[in-house]
Amino acid sequence: MIKLNEKRLIETFVKLAQTDSESYNEGAMQELVARELKEIGCRVAVDNAGKKYKTTAKGNVIGYLPGTVNSAPFILCAHLDTVTPGKGVKAVVKKDRITSDGTTVLGADDKAGVAIILEILRTLKEQKLPHPPVEAVFTLSEEVGMFGSKNLDCTKIKGREGVILDGEEVDSVLVQGPAVNTIEVWIKGLASHAGVSPEKGISAVEVAAYALTQMKLGRIDKDTVANFGIIQGGQATNVVMPEVYLKGEARSLVNEKLAKQTANMKAAFEKAVKRFTKKIDGKICKPELKFVAEERYPAVRIAKTHPVVKGAVAAAKQLGISLKPVACGGGCDANVLAGKGFTLPNLGTGVRGYHTTKEYLLLKEFFAAFHIALGTLLAYKK
Ligand SMILES: [Zn+2]
Repeated sequence: MIKLNEKRLIETFVKLAQTDSESYNEGAMQELVARELKEIGCRVAVDNAGKKYKTTAKGNVIGYLPGTVNSAPFILCAHLDTVTPGKGVKAVVKKDRITSDGTTVLGADDKAGVAIILEILRTLKEQKLPHPPVEAVFTLSEEVGMFGSKNLDCTKIKGREGVILDGEEVDSVLVQGPAVNTIEVWIKGLASHAGVSPEKGISAVEVAAYALTQMKLGRIDKDTVANFGIIQGGQATNVVMPEVYLKGEARSLVNEKLAKQTANMKAAFEKAVKRFTKKIDGKICKPELKFVAEERYPAVRIAKTHPVVKGAVAAAKQLGISLKPVACGGGCDANVLAGKGFTLPNLGTGVRGYHTTKEYLLLKEFFAAFHIALGTLLAYKK
């Protein structure tokens, strides 16, 4: 087994954890990581992602370490930001774990990943291990909507495969997650006195209600679900409701199925508009419809038989860990980067209680995560 400098890995983690980097305020962290990469001997690029939304950082950081064996580059990816409260973190190193002092998050999500990647690069050089070229990709503002990976300059990265280090337990690898569309619908009918002349109105809520009966919601198929969770409209019982707003979402593990479900939902509203179009005082009156579907993130779906997944499973086995491929319900860099053509299964780093002030990092798993990621990298050849 390759020797891990545990002391140095912990020191690096503590230094990172104690550098403030709440989302949108990752400037100092971006500079620190770029400096560390240069010190290791990597070529470093910073893209312009930071100009495309509001953050103190200039961009995502990419470190390049040339390979000593002929292969496509292997990507190691982690994000630089933390959730709040993440200012003035004091990392407390205990016997089996690292915690914060209880007033902030620890930020092991995802600085455990960042520290592991830096230690892997140091180890590759120090121990002269034969390895493929490495591209270390550090993204911004993952926690608040993956703005770093969404704005990543992919032309700066040659590899398309590797791993993300941004999970909890080291015995699971995330290979599947749904694509999500947020759906907003505005319907404008026609107000009229409901007691005196209801026939001169068009009830927006009736249009919406009819549309909802014309589409499938809930469980669509084994990969796809859809739901409207918010509806707002109306001000008085004696007025035919002139406007209604609905907000919902659709999710699918398959991008094409999500597109189809979204189109079906839109078509149902269009059908309702037609049905409720009528003549009032000799004039054709048609409800107005605005349907907006916004992609929150695309699906990630990596085969369990993919060489990188198999490499990770084999590396974990060396440690006596049986690595389980799992699916997640939310979105992360793995989703966004899958949409850009990258295959990056997401490995755990040993963090627990993330996004709370009780967050901690289990050292045993932290060290295991280093070996799993390094083993996966060393086995890679393409
Ligand atoms: Zn994270």
